Amino acid sequence: MTTIAFIGLGHMGLPMARNLLKAGHQLSVFDLVASAVTELANEGARAASSAADAVKGAAVIISMLPASQHVESLYLGDTGLLSQIAAGSLILECSTIAPESARKVHQAAANLGLAMLDAPVSGGTAGAAAGTLTFMVGGNAATLEQARPILAAMGSNIHHAGEDGAGQVAKVCNNQLLAVLMIGTAEAMALGVANGLEPKVLAEIMRQSSGGNWALEKYNPWPGVMPAAPASREYSGGFMAELMAKDLGLAQQAAQSTASSTPMGALALQLYRLLLKQGQGKLDFSAIQKLFVE
Ligand code: NAD
Repeated sequence: MTTIAFIGLGHMGLPMARNLLKAGHQLSVFDLVASAVTELANEGARAASSAADAVKGAAVIISMLPASQHVESLYLGDTGLLSQIAAGSLILECSTIAPESARKVHQAAANLGLAMLDAPVSGGTAGAAAGTLTFMVGGNAATLEQARPILAAMGSNIHHAGEDGAGQVAKVCNNQLLAVLMIGTAEAMALGVANGLEPKVLAEIMRQSSGGNWALEKYNPWPGVMPAAPASREYSGGFMAELMAKDLGLAQQAAQSTASSTPMGALALQLYRLLLKQGQGKLDFSAIQKLFVE
C-alpha cells in the first residue's frame, strides 16, 4: 500500500484514481471541480482542499491535467507544488503536454532532489476505466522500475520511451497518427453512406479489409455502428476534440523544432480547428465525422 496524491480528476484522472483505490492504495485527491473530489471521497479517498494539501504525506504524486500551462503552473514557480513535496517522493506526470514543458518540470524536480517520470497514456476513457491504459514513459529507467507497480494498477502496457520528455514525444506521434486514421475513417464512412451503403455493413467490410484500423476496430465515428463508442451517445464522454487539437499542435511544434515534414499532421490540425470553430470542441474527437455529413 502506497500513499498517493492524485491531482486532476477529469475524464481520465477519475477512473485512474479509482483503480488505485481498488488496488488498495491510500489516496488524497484534488480537482478544481469539487464534485469529482466528493465522488472519490465517497469511495474511500481523502478529499484534499488544495493540491498542496493533497501532497502532504504522499510518497507518490500523480497529475492528470489538461495541458502544458496547467502542469507548469501547478508545479513550477516560487509557490509551485514542487516546493511542497517531501524529498524522496516520486512524481508521475500523466497529462499530455509539450516535451519541453515536461523537461522543464523534470529539471526543476531534479534540482530539488525529487524523482519524476513523464508518463502520458493512451487507451481513452474506456482504457482508464478498465485499467488497461498504455503508459509511454520518459525518464530514468530505475525510477520506472520503482513506479511500475503503481502504473500497473492503471495500465496493462508500460513502455520506457527514453530519457526525460521521451514519453511525451511518443504520445504526440501516436496521437497525430490516431487523428489521421480517425479523419480518414470518417471520410470513408461518409463516402460509402452517400453512395448507398449501410453504415454497419461498410464498417465491417473495411474493418476486415486492408483499411482496417483502431477507429474501425474500437471507436467507429458513425453514430449507431458501435453502441459503446462516443458516436453512439452524441459524441459525449470520450477524448475531447479540443484536446486532440492541442495534441496536434504539440506534434506540429515538435516537427518545427526538427524541421520534420508532417503534411498529414498539419492537415489534421486544420480540420480539427474547423470543428472547434463550429463550437464542437467539447465533443469527442470522433465528432470530426460531422465535417463530412450534411
Ligand atoms: P479533463 O479536462 O476531463 O480533466 C482534466 C481535469 O483537470 C479537470 O477535471 C480539471 O478541473 C482539472 N484541473 C485543471 N487544472 C487543475 C489544477 N490546477 N488543479 C487541480 N485540478 C485541475 O481531461 P481528460 O480527458 O481527463 O485528459 C487529461 C489529460 O489526459 C490531457 O492532457 C489529455 O490530453 C490526456 N488524455 C486524454 C485522453 C481521453 O481519452 N480523454 C486519452 C489520453 C490522454
